[in-house]
Amino acid sequence: MNSPAAHTAVTAAALQADRATRQRQVVAALAPLLPPHALLWQGEDTVPYECDGLTAYRQQPLLVALPETEAQVAAVLKACHALAVPVVARGAGTGLSGGAMPHALGVTLSLAKFNKIVIVDRQACTATVQCGVRNLAISEAVAPLGLYYAPDPSSQIACTIGGNVAENSGGVHCLKYGLTLHNVLRVRGFTALGEPVEFGSEALDVPGLDLLPLVVGSEGMLAVITEVTVKLTPKPSLARCIMASFDDIRKAGDAVAAVIAAGIIPAGLEMMDKPMTAAVEDYVHAGYDLDAAAILLCESDGTPEEVAEEIDRMLAVLTGAGASRVEVSRDEAQRLKFWSGRKNAFPASGRISPDYMCMDSTIPRKRLADILLAIQEMEAKYGLRCCNVFHAGDGNLHPLILFDANDPDQMHRCELFGADILETSVAMGGTVTGEHGVGVEKLSSMCVQFSPAEREQMAALKRAFDGQGTLNPGKVIPTLQRCAEYGKMHVKRGLLAFPELERF
Ligand SMILES: Cc1cc2nc3c(=O)[nH]c(=O)nc-3n(C[C@H](O)[C@H](O)[C@H](O)COP(=O)(O)OP(=O)(O)OC[C@H]3O[C@@H](n4cnc5c(N)ncnc54)[C@H](O)[C@@H]3O)c2cc1C
Repeated sequence: MNSPAAHTAVTAAALQADRATRQRQVVAALAPLLPPHALLWQGEDTVPYECDGLTAYRQQPLLVALPETEAQVAAVLKACHALAVPVVARGAGTGLSGGAMPHALGVTLSLAKFNKIVIVDRQACTATVQCGVRNLAISEAVAPLGLYYAPDPSSQIACTIGGNVAENSGGVHCLKYGLTLHNVLRVRGFTALGEPVEFGSEALDVPGLDLLPLVVGSEGMLAVITEVTVKLTPKPSLARCIMASFDDIRKAGDAVAAVIAAGIIPAGLEMMDKPMTAAVEDYVHAGYDLDAAAILLCESDGTPEEVAEEIDRMLAVLTGAGASRVEVSRDEAQRLKFWSGRKNAFPASGRISPDYMCMDSTIPRKRLADILLAIQEMEAKYGLRCCNVFHAGDGNLHPLILFDANDPDQMHRCELFGADILETSVAMGGTVTGEHGVGVEKLSSMCVQFSPAEREQMAALKRAFDGQGTLNPGKVIPTLQRCAEYGKMHVKRGLLAFPELERF
């Protein structure tokens, strides 16, 4: 019984027995609080919740709770806290870093039923919505008023505003209009103890400490969000988009920096490399230049006069930076066609590979070409292909590593490749996450980005909100032990090195 295999078998059996006991306890505690159809725990019922958009990692929760009222959310949180049972909040499950991945001994708290738009204030240009409302549904609801909600993650058809707040999500238009943080005024929710809390206000400032920026991007670790008040933006009367081709990645990267350096803040500034444009063009026929080493999409919006002036300025900068071809959308149909390619980049990747892992890091704009060339070298090093599509104006990369998750060796090389991209981004002055959060995926990379003192400050904040560590434990903030183990390694380890450290 001393072999590693025997030890693993004993641990797995102990975990199974523990799970069964805990499940009985939790079902007994929650059954009086929710109607029977709002508790899923039998048979295959919890399978749809076993992962988020990071499908390579899966875990069954003990139970899924689907409350419909804030009173039910509070009651579930109180009961789970009393039993010291982890609670993982879940919106639409489109997250790409495993933030909503269940805990083996925890409850997944689905907020899917919180899907009502509470009130739209036309005069204040705000909307108060429940946390499970889809991002795009807000813009659809206020379109007749000539307004929209500006942050537009590519997943906006499905992802929820609660998930957007928890991840501080971005999108194509965030370069000009800001991230979720800049478009949210007030958040209402519940603490780990089930107590109601509000962060921010509908006024421009809040009395005392402003905790709103702390909760935005907190990945379900500080509070469960139930209601959000967002700013609404007047819809611009016109938008036009330039597609610019470059025969060299470095020229394209430098053109991005040149646009911003010229004092222009485009409504969107996105880049795709050659493998990505090939995959996308084959799928949606957006009219992309297949000979280009990279293409840029640069959008201008505003009044017709503002757009005409800005398009002229951008054309001058792009041509001066060495663009081999530029094309300006002649009408709305062509503009949407240009964007259809960008918006379908992820599904297009799904057509050319059994699986893909979408990485998310940031890099100073002036280093864009350097990181893309480094990623090309990594393709050879790890023997896997990678397509790049990203928010170039923000320096926010999204390398899509193509692999087959059914092949353990490819899976392992993909994790090493991903960790390498994140650590190289840090070495070039960037960060390990731009907009997809840390979740479980980037725990080890956080050891590279932050010093022990910085990580301890994060852990202290977590303890101040959630002393028992009930809310989404094992995510975002790496343990001291994880970082010590990771630091000892001479060979780089994969993204999820030491997964056992996050297990009970
Ligand atoms: C095809 C595709 C494209 C994408 N494009 C973008 C993009 O352009 N920009 C971008 O930023 N992201 C993008 N994403 C990632 C993802 O859509 C966003 O992170 C989104 O905000 C997640 O929302 P969700 O409702 O699916 O949250 P989930 O995945 O369910 O949860 C995400 C995190 O938020 C927490 N959470 C969810 N709801 C609550 C709540 N009510 N209270 C407290 N915590 C909560 C969860 O615990 C988890 O940690 C993309 C994903 C996909 C699959």
